Amino acid sequence: MMTLPAKQVVRRVREAGVVGAGGAGFPTYKKLETQVQHVIANGAECEPLLQKDRQTMLQDRAAFLRGLAIVRDVTRAQTVTIAVKRKNADVVEGLRQDAQAEGFEVLVYDDVYPAGDEYILVYEITGRQIPPGGIPLAVGAVVDNVETIVNIARAVDGQPVTEKYLTICGEVRRPVTTVVPVGARIADCLEHLAGGWTTPDPVVLTGGLMMGGVARSLSDPVTKNMGGLIVLPSDHYLVRRKTQTRETYTRIGHGQCDQCSLCTELCPRYILGYPIEPHRVMRTLLMTGEARQRGSLWAQYCCECNVCSLIACPEQLDPKSICVDAKRLLREHGLGRTAAELRTLFREPHPVRKGREIPIKTLYTRLGLTPYDRPAPFQRFDWQPQSVTLPLAAHVGAPAQAIVQSGDRVRRGDVIGTVADDQLGCPIHASIDGRVTALTQQAIEITA
Ligand code: SF4
Ligand code: SF4
Repeated sequence: MMTLPAKQVVRRVREAGVVGAGGAGFPTYKKLETQVQHVIANGAECEPLLQKDRQTMLQDRAAFLRGLAIVRDVTRAQTVTIAVKRKNADVVEGLRQDAQAEGFEVLVYDDVYPAGDEYILVYEITGRQIPPGGIPLAVGAVVDNVETIVNIARAVDGQPVTEKYLTICGEVRRPVTTVVPVGARIADCLEHLAGGWTTPDPVVLTGGLMMGGVARSLSDPVTKNMGGLIVLPSDHYLVRRKTQTRETYTRIGHGQCDQCSLCTELCPRYILGYPIEPHRVMRTLLMTGEARQRGSLWAQYCCECNVCSLIACPEQLDPKSICVDAKRLLREHGLGRTAAELRTLFREPHPVRKGREIPIKTLYTRLGLTPYDRPAPFQRFDWQPQSVTLPLAAHVGAPAQAIVQSGDRVRRGDVIGTVADDQLGCPIHASIDGRVTALTQQAIEITA
């Protein structure tokens, strides 16, 4: 299928500003620069309420399959697997014939959390454990979110990333899954696409309820790696948990952790064999100096999935945040496990691993999400925001440098910020037609 040489495909993917659409925003071209054995399309969307990956595969089916073939050809992979959860099995049924014609396989994973973790997918599909702290490339695999794969197909056609699939749900009038211009204000999306919010003091969780963050304000822009906007009342359990200050969770954890170790027993990375033991990290709250640093090493491979804090801990403590702080301490002191330690500590996956996965239904009931478990059907709107804000640090790596001036006219798709060729990163593009109305060190604002 691929007619362009691999180098040109990689170049186009970079020039189109394609970054991971389902996670940290890693520049995708970098993953295409090497040859691998396995390509995995991650449609396992395990965060509650989100349906944007499902809709990406349904609405952009041809581009998805074409993008997957491009990734296979560029990386010279021998196997290609589309990974979905059981709730999306009907979607892959719909494209199974075309997928089979291309030689793509399908993995249908149970409706558990965190099925979309690439460490888990790589293990399930290849039988190999990614080395602690490593990336799938270390075991000959590339994992891309399904929306990223659609963006790769478009990039090869010369189309930059200017739009984003999003599920907008929770306390809104009309939950919806849709496509919005990158950089649109959260408040505009809620008002114009979901009928507005239905709670007097809305708080918006972006990305996901388990791993996503809390938007600082309704004026924050939609970014290329966001999966959804979930509106909750300010007194919702999850909002309270996610906005607790460090002083509070540290003080409570210090006083109340009884070392039951349930956080470790249910930790998805621990049961996959990695040396991560959050209950031992909790002990560091009672320590100082070198003892604290040594204890913090048990947090090094935490993926911040939040199972320990939001599901496992019977005391509702926050081992995940304690682990995040411990990882920061390790970085500040340049500490990490030695190769010799890892040889001893890195194990085979736990024999009862499957029995300890968290059913999605449990998340709904435990996190008070059942009232929001409503359909969020796909709808494409003929709507353009009045203005967009495009952050220059929109991806992992070097931030883009603006190449436009205040007052410049731009058209949708124009490059407005670039990253030097020798740096990790990719350009950013105008997502609407308009004029540059503000330019700061952090972002470019365009007004129609
Ligand atoms: S589950 Fe909670 S109480 Fe038990 S060890 Fe972990 S943090 Fe402490
Ligand atoms: S957030 Fe908790 S459960 Fe998840 S990887 Fe980190 S320690 Fe383990």
